[in-house]
Amino acid sequence: MDKQRQLSSLTVVVPFYNEQGGVLAFYEQTCAALDQLHFAYNFVFVDDGSTDDTLRLLNTLADRDSRVTVLSLTRNFGHQAALTAGLDHAGGEAVVTMDGDLQHPPAAIADLVRAYEAGAEVVYAVRANEDHRSWAKKSTARIFYRLLKRLTRIDIISGAMDFRLMSRPAVESLRQMRETHRYLRGMVPWMGFSYQIVYYQEAERFADRSKYTWTKMLRLARYGFFSFSTGALDLITLLGLALTGLAMLYLIYALVVWAFFHETVPGWTSVIAVLLVVSGVQLISVGILAQYIGMIFEEVKGRPLYLLKQKRLAQDRPPEAQPDYDGATMQPED
Ligand code: UDP
Ligand code: MG
Repeated sequence: MDKQRQLSSLTVVVPFYNEQGGVLAFYEQTCAALDQLHFAYNFVFVDDGSTDDTLRLLNTLADRDSRVTVLSLTRNFGHQAALTAGLDHAGGEAVVTMDGDLQHPPAAIADLVRAYEAGAEVVYAVRANEDHRSWAKKSTARIFYRLLKRLTRIDIISGAMDFRLMSRPAVESLRQMRETHRYLRGMVPWMGFSYQIVYYQEAERFADRSKYTWTKMLRLARYGFFSFSTGALDLITLLGLALTGLAMLYLIYALVVWAFFHETVPGWTSVIAVLLVVSGVQLISVGILAQYIGMIFEEVKGRPLYLLKQKRLAQDRPPEAQPDYDGATMQPED
């Protein structure tokens, strides 16, 4: 193997949505982990329309540490849009995206960087421990990923959340993909760059509760499913063909009985049953079509993926020149 490359600078992109309880701990622990490594680093913190003290705390960090960029979205645009905003403003040779609730341990960044230096363009961090989510969330996730992988034929890595490192070329390529319905867990593997997987132990959430409600999760799943595959269209076509085939067979049977045995097939029940099944299938099919049409409608509007109400860029000063950070004076206001 040829000589390993050395990472010179890293940008850490983190979305925050109502995380006032965890912002400072995240910053401190991440700095502590990164200070032990050999490259310069900076942050792009994205406030995803928080309604609590998150933005003020992020700005306090930027006051003290000139490596901190703070972007604030005009409203809650969602995790994937917030990540996109961050990636659009990330300048490092490589970029790490991670959650701001300390579930993605900052210490794992060293492993991501090692894999990058060994040559991978994208490094996925995959959770190694049993996950802490509810049984319902876990099993729906498992079924969803299996189905998605089969339908899209994209190498989606099961268990890889939005904790990953991307090289500069990978980030630049991802920036060109401006689709409205964003599912980064599919878009990144779609690009096809060489990748490696590293494992990490997921921690408990540092503060509060998950900001991923069921609605948000289902929406993301829908985007993943319908914007990555037209498999559902193939499915309804097949269903239509199968039903038509069955109907033909049944018709032939009914005609044979009538022609040779002078009997009619009895039954109100069977007529109603067939009618109900067929109209159910039709409605589902129309629903699936509607999903695609709705997405086309959103897509053709071509709106920006997020809007910023604040953009405070980090000045590029070397890490040594940082003023001392004084965490004690920065507490969330109740
Ligand atoms: N997040 C966000 N916008 C949202 C929901 C979540 O920016 O609408 C952020 C959140 O602050 C956290 C990360 O995305 O930093 C992951 O969210 P969370 O921890 O709630 O998800 P989970 O770990 O339960 O999947
Ligand atoms: Mg979390």
